[in-house]
Formats: sequence, structure tokens, C-alpha cells
Amino acid sequence: MAEAATYDVVIIGGGPGGYNAAIRAGQLGLRAACVEMRDTLGGTCLNVGCMPSKALLHASELFEVANKEFATLGIEVGTPKVNLPQMMAQKADSVGQLTKGIEFLFKKNKVDWVKGKGKIAGAGKVEVTAVDGTITTLTAKDIVIATGSEPTPLPGVDFVDGKVIDSTGALSLPAIPKHLIVVGAGVIGLELGSVWRRLGSQVTVVEFLDKVGAGMDTEVATAFQRGLTKQGMTFRMGTRVTAAKAGKDGVELTLEPASGGAAETLKGDVVLVAIGRRPYTAGLGLETVGIETDKRGFLVNDHLKTGKDGIWVIGDVTHGPMLAHKAEEEAVAVIEYIAGKAGHVDYDLVPSVIYTGPEVAWVGKTEEQLKTAGVEFRKGKFSFTANSRAKINHETEGFVKILADAKTDKVLGVHIYGPQAGELIGEACIAMAFGAASEDIARTCHAHPTRSEAVKQAAMGVDGWTMQA
Ligand SMILES: Cc1cc2nc3c(=O)[nH]c(=O)nc-3n(C[C@H](O)[C@H](O)[C@H](O)COP(=O)(O)OP(=O)(O)OC[C@H]3O[C@@H](n4cnc5c(N)ncnc54)[C@H](O)[C@@H]3O)c2cc1C
Repeated sequence: MAEAATYDVVIIGGGPGGYNAAIRAGQLGLRAACVEMRDTLGGTCLNVGCMPSKALLHASELFEVANKEFATLGIEVGTPKVNLPQMMAQKADSVGQLTKGIEFLFKKNKVDWVKGKGKIAGAGKVEVTAVDGTITTLTAKDIVIATGSEPTPLPGVDFVDGKVIDSTGALSLPAIPKHLIVVGAGVIGLELGSVWRRLGSQVTVVEFLDKVGAGMDTEVATAFQRGLTKQGMTFRMGTRVTAAKAGKDGVELTLEPASGGAAETLKGDVVLVAIGRRPYTAGLGLETVGIETDKRGFLVNDHLKTGKDGIWVIGDVTHGPMLAHKAEEEAVAVIEYIAGKAGHVDYDLVPSVIYTGPEVAWVGKTEEQLKTAGVEFRKGKFSFTANSRAKINHETEGFVKILADAKTDKVLGVHIYGPQAGELIGEACIAMAFGAASEDIARTCHAHPTRSEAVKQAAMGVDGWTMQA
């Protein structure tokens, strides 16, 4: 057992929650250690989540553009071909640079990365077991749990290497499947389904619910599903997967209508199970401090406190959207609380983005949520077909929709399905953080020609004076 080391704060987990907490702690002059058991920092997001998926989305989108649009644009380069090993290599290279970047930021902010699996061993104590079995004890006044999440398995469907896979498997397939079946029409399933469809797979998405993109505004979800269908994806909505049989020549799934009825089978080469993620707390030693998870395995929190003195929790392992930027906001807040400052996270303003082509992004309330809450609202909508930049770039699919309070005009929700939606939503977040009225957006000068003019025109539409449609 190595000698005990003393810190102000020990953070367990080096993902977007953990590494941002560690950096902020260093910035505020706290002596901080971050315990991470992976070989690299960055957690799910950098290693097997946000970043590798975006690397493949980018490469596959360019492949599709080269195939389908270059001729229209007057560019002749022959027939584009996929070099999958190179596509995977550039992904790994970018990911490697990003994870190394976190190591650099740790050094810059005097944070120690303690490599190994962390286990809470009573109040203020964390035991770290390294790969070689060495145990180091860390002591700290405050401990932050940032252990993240893992893919949720589907009952009746066992993972089988290369055949029935999770998102991590789908980020590193060695060959392009002929027929990929995606179980779950959420963010991860639709992004990774898009990657492989663009590269040549036939993609069938099986979803239990009647709507894609769980939580998405229904009008947007309908347009989004129509767009993906036009691109060639097939959807089996309202359908439950009850069993999988993997054999030499693929996987046979048993499907049943969600509302009951006769079972049928569907065959594919590879099945991606993307039904969600569940909190990860295995071997964390929660029992040593009397912390229990809720029924779904999450750690509950009140202002990021677990209820046990000096033990805090952030990121995917606690409630709220499982998103890297939500974990990052909580990371800053938790360290500011610990340092005696006023931390704050506005959970109403955490944007969601699906990085398909085109993208979907939204922040604030959906129409359905406002109706259920009995809030009277007005709506402005503007189609990208009428946006000059989108028109000139041949990317006119989608629209911007702004929902504002009927009496005060305060913006309550912004929903974008269209080009660069993930970038455009930032404007909405800032406007809403400042309590903007739709008129504030409508009367703010937006550069021409930009897609952001569609946001302005939609805001004008709330009061009925959209000018360009
Ligand atoms: C394919 C995919 C795509 C995604 N795309 C996006 C996206 O585009 N945008 C977005 O916002 N989010 C995206 N996400 C979600 C995002 O990755 C997570 O919300 C985010 O990583 C959560 O951060 P975290 O710090 O809470 O946990 P994690 O990133 O899961 O990090 C937790 C870390 O803790 C470590 N750990 C766990 N237990 C211990 C222990 N006992 N000791 C030591 N280390 C431990 C783990 O090894 C892990 O590295 C995606 C996820 C996936 C799977």
C-alpha cells in the first residue's frame, strides 16, 4: 500500500464532469486529484462518445456530399471510395490528441491524475487500485463522484462481439455491414445509424415509441423522421425487440408490436443496441458512507450534494440529461460550491443536439410541454427553403421554430431542424439566459447571408411580421 496523499478535493472519474471539475479546482487554488481507471482521460465523451462519433459523422457526411453533390456543384474527382481503416485511424488520431490535451490541462492547473479504480473507503477517504494491484489511499475534505454511465443492455438480447453491439462497438466496426439494425431511435442510434447508412449500409431503426428523438418537439420529430426516411433509413416504430439470435450469417431479431400482437423476425448483419445509458457506480464503495442509489441506479442530489457531508455528485451518474455539457456545467458549479462561491446550473437552458445531416437542436420547452403546463404561447416558424444562405448551399431541409409567452413575449423554447442547428442554438441559449423576448431576437441585426437569419425571421414570425417568406 502506497503512502496516503492529502488533497482538498478528490474527483472520481475523468470524463467531462470529472476533468472539468479538476481543472476548475486547480484554477481556484484547490489541491485536486482526479482518479481515472481508463488508460486515457476524457471519459465516455472523448474516448467512446461525443468525439469519435463526430469524427465519423464528419467523414461520412463528406463522403456523401462528394458522392451526391459534387457533380451538381461542378466538381469532378472521380468516384469517391471509402477507406475504412484510414477513416478509423484519423478518428483515433484526433481522439488521441484530445485526450492528451486534457493531460496537458491537468499539468497546467496542477491537478494530479491518479491512475486506477477509485473506491470510497469512508468519509474523506478514497482507495485507488492501480492496474498492477498497488493501492494508494487519498484523503480529502471533499469527494466528487463523476463516474458517468454505461450502455443499457436490452433484456433478452445479449451482446455478441461484432454482431450485437453497443455504441462503442458501432464506432469501430471493421467492415461496413450490409444491413445494420439499430434498436432505439434516440440520439446515439440515429447518429451512428446515419454514419453507416452514408457509408453504404441498409439501416433499419426499430423503436418502441411512436416518435423519434425522445423528448423532441413533436412537429420537429415528424419532420426529422421524414428527412431520415428520405435519406434511406427505414423505421419500425411502435415495435418492441424481445429476442436476438446471433449466428454465422448475421442476427435474427424477434419483434413484437408495442401494443401487443403477433411476433415476427427481422434479419440483419449487425445489431446496434442503443436504447439508452445507465449510471455507473460499480465497486465505488457507496456502502462505506451510507449512500444508496435510486431504483434506476442514479445517485440523487440536492444542489449536487449527495446528502452525506463532503460527498458530491455530478454528470451522467446523477439525474438530468446525459450530456457532456450538462456534466461540465455541474463540474464548475460543484467546485465553486466547495470553494465557498455561488455555483449555479440552469437546467432549463441545457441545449440538446443531434448531429445528423441536417442537425436537430433545441432548448427550453416543446409545444407539448407548454400545452400540458397550460402556458399560452405564440409561435414563429421559418423554413430554410426561404433562407438565402441555405438555398445557395443546397441545404434547405428544415425550419426554425420559436415559442414565446403569449403575454410577455419571453422566449420559452427554440427548436431548429436544419443546417448547423447545433451552432445556431447557442444564440437561443444566450438570448434565453438573458430572459429575451422574441422581439429582442427579431430586432437584433443578423449578418447576411447566414443561416442565423432564419432564427431572426422565425422570431419576427412570433408577432406575425416575418418578411422573407
Ligand atoms: C456514442 C455517444 C455519443 C455521444 N455524443 C454526445 C454528444 O455529441 N454531446 C454530448 O453532450 N454528449 C454526448 N454523449 C454523452 C456524453 O458522452 C456523456 O454525457 C458524458 O461523457 C458524461 O460525462 P461524465 O463525466 O458524467 O461521465 P463519463 O464521460 O462517462 O466519464 C466517467 C469516467 O469515470 C471513470 N470511472 C468510473 N468509475 C470509476 C472508478 N471507480 N474509478 C476511476 N474511474 C472511474 C470511467 O472510466 C469514465 O472515464 C455521447 C455518448 C455516447 C456513448
